[in-house]
Amino acid sequence: MMNGRYHVSLACLGGHFIDNRIDENPEKKTRFCPTCGERTICKCQNCHAFIRGEYESFGFNPNYWGEEEASVPYYCHECGKQYPWTTRCKEALKKMADGLPHLRRKEKTELKQSIDDIIDNPTEAQLAAVTLNRLTAKAQKRGIELRELVITVVGGILGEAAKRVMFP
Ligand SMILES: [Zn+2]
Ligand SMILES: [Zn+2]
Repeated sequence: MMNGRYHVSLACLGGHFIDNRIDENPEKKTRFCPTCGERTICKCQNCHAFIRGEYESFGFNPNYWGEEEASVPYYCHECGKQYPWTTRCKEALKKMADGLPHLRRKEKTELKQSIDDIIDNPTEAQLAAVTLNRLTAKAQKRGIELRELVITVVGGILGEAAKRVMFP
């Protein structure tokens, strides 16, 4: 029987990861982000649950080599709400979609909807990925860049497996 616990992560509102063991490394605690100057948080702003950091298992486990989780989660594991950086990241992607060349206004709206669906709506995600692929291809180079960014985000939120299903 393995037992363990999660340490606490500290990140800035912009999503810069600072430390995944802040409960044990109080000396690493900063009020503001050294990268961008935003305020830092170690708790969900909605339900105040600590942001999950590194997982430490107690007792001997020959398969356990320590999990280096050097990134921040996208959603709160307690209340399911998006962390502020997730919302911002989505907004940034949609802003980029708005600035793409060769797309009609209606297509941009469709593209932004597909970004929302891919990130927030698992049942629509696969279909939305088809739309995203089609429209970003139309916008050529800058479209491909946007697509790559969305794929990176999908990998972080839904995992590598989902990423391969949606963007084979
Ligand atoms: Zn920052
Ligand atoms: Zn929460």
